[in-house]
Amino acid sequence: MNILEVKELGKDFGGLTALQGVHLSIEAGRIFGLIGPNGAGKSTAFNCIAGVYAPTRGEIRFNGEVINGQKPWNLCKKGLARTFQIVKPFASKTVLYNVMVGSFLHTNSTREARRRALEVLEFLHFAGKAHMRAGDLTIADRKRLEIARALATRPKLLLLDEVMAGLRPAEVDQMVEIIRRLRDQGITIFVIEHIMRAIMALSDRVAVLHFGKKIAEGTPQEVASDERVIKAYLGE
Ligand code: ADP
Ligand code: MG
Repeated sequence: MNILEVKELGKDFGGLTALQGVHLSIEAGRIFGLIGPNGAGKSTAFNCIAGVYAPTRGEIRFNGEVINGQKPWNLCKKGLARTFQIVKPFASKTVLYNVMVGSFLHTNSTREARRRALEVLEFLHFAGKAHMRAGDLTIADRKRLEIARALATRPKLLLLDEVMAGLRPAEVDQMVEIIRRLRDQGITIFVIEHIMRAIMALSDRVAVLHFGKKIAEGTPQEVASDERVIKAYLGE
């Protein structure tokens, strides 16, 4: 079954066409990678899928339902969560508080929200920092917090936008491990990443965007040897 079906997706910003005719099908339970040079339209695609932007053209189906134009909060309730490329936690609040914001989506009980937040922090080996101020975290830990906040909403589909940018190689390896464990928990992962080694190791399938269009899709091996993809990257 495809948890996400994107057909003929298009997005214009004034005179600029950021996305054009993009088709994507993501099978439930898999890790699907999205790559492409800077400005290719990757984050815009995520923003359209997660309801941050209304698409200009096309159709987006989540679990069979057309979700075009629905608000992020509403989609989150249905099980579609995303992280942002620019991480913006409540800096003066604790890690735990920030994660609890996500848990409140499914409960009004502070106790239950706290329990759920701590469970997520344990899963991410992050519980030791539950009482740190979010603003005092390292880049790697802010990324982890961003994932924790999304996880607290209990997503079925999780969109990860460059969660490995700025991480050291050992931290990248940890993040790859975390993403695999999420997949093993039954969460479908749709991941944008610039670190090629990570995306190739993680993804069951990879799609490539270039100037707003999908120029290739396949297994990591197929995509890595595709001439159009190699040209798109060399031309960056
Ligand atoms: P990527 O994530 O692949 O680097 P983006 O999706 O961020 O690319 O951007 C694709 C194109 O759309 C770029 O030309 C970018 O400048 C433009 N763009 C993205 N968001 C906006 C916006 N909110 N307003 C105007 N232009 C935008
Ligand atoms: Mg981006």
